[in-house]
Amino acid sequence: MNTVLWIVVPCYNEEEVLPVTSRLFREELRKLVREGRVSEDSRILFVNDGSRDRTWEIIQELAKKDPCFVGICQSRNRGHQNAVLAGLMEAKEYADITISIDCDGQDDIAAMEKMVDAYHEGSEIVYGVRSSRKSDTFFKRATARGFYRFLNRMGAEVVYDHADYRLVSRRVLNAFADYREVNLFLRGMFPLVGFRSTCVSYERHERMAGKSHYPLSKMLVLALEGITSTSIRPLHLIAAVGILVSLLGLAGIIWAVVVHFLGQTIAGWTSLLCVSCFLGGIQLLAVGILGEYIGKTYMEAKGRPRYIISERTYRTEEEEKEKPKRKPPKSAS
Ligand code: UDP
Ligand code: MG
Repeated sequence: MNTVLWIVVPCYNEEEVLPVTSRLFREELRKLVREGRVSEDSRILFVNDGSRDRTWEIIQELAKKDPCFVGICQSRNRGHQNAVLAGLMEAKEYADITISIDCDGQDDIAAMEKMVDAYHEGSEIVYGVRSSRKSDTFFKRATARGFYRFLNRMGAEVVYDHADYRLVSRRVLNAFADYREVNLFLRGMFPLVGFRSTCVSYERHERMAGKSHYPLSKMLVLALEGITSTSIRPLHLIAAVGILVSLLGLAGIIWAVVVHFLGQTIAGWTSLLCVSCFLGGIQLLAVGILGEYIGKTYMEAKGRPRYIISERTYRTEEEEKEKPKRKPPKSAS
């Protein structure tokens, strides 16, 4: 099989877990090669995200010992999403398919086999979806569920219980490279790219060593980032509330005038109520209209591709997928 797979693994201060999981990644890759699912030119790419411990040294040693390991190092810590993006953009130069996975062994490495099979059956994006959250605490389970529901309500298209364990073909990555935004929320962006996709479920385990870099505070930041970078629905909501408040204000004014002519008011009440109803409505409506323009400017500023063509009648699917690909890098030694 000549499908070249690159496994992209972001690493931040992972000296405790890397020696353990790198072995597991290599075993899985060797198995995939042996079974003819992927080419022997496949690689495991570690992205060091500006770690302050020995992570980069460990990656360099691994690359020296075994050519299946390669590494890139970010000049400083930029966060998980940027590290994954850096790895994917590097990998697309060499690989036909990439799988991004965390380096702590929480995502079931064995699910890669199902992902690669799904690719061979025609899917170009394969989302890894957690089948159960048995290993999570009740609190984590409840907040995670709320997180996905809220994101979808707010207009971010995310696959339920999918984090960043996914297979993506080179063709999708080439299209994805045209998404030039800097505020990244990868799991909400890949569904926007389109192409044939499917899900593969897997068990989520405990972290093999080290500790999580995503406490609740960072989860909330990620949720906010997810909504604000993929959707302008909150701004639409302000506009909708603005219209509603204006209508209520109008009703309030009519009511105040009617009550005034019925002579059941004290002096000054009608004019005060009319002014405050009018101002309340008009102000929120004005903010909503501003929001609509800001939302449009925001989407324009992202400079996202306006269309992506997946097939043509005058080219075969294979030709469509063809794009110059670099030779895989040799061993570092
Ligand atoms: N990570 C990264 N940069 C960061 C934080 C995390 O590259 O600034 C990596 C980390 O090494 C791991 C993955 O992102 O491979 C997920 O992080 P973690 O396991 O801490 O998050 P959790 O699984 O607890 O949500
Ligand atoms: Mg983890």
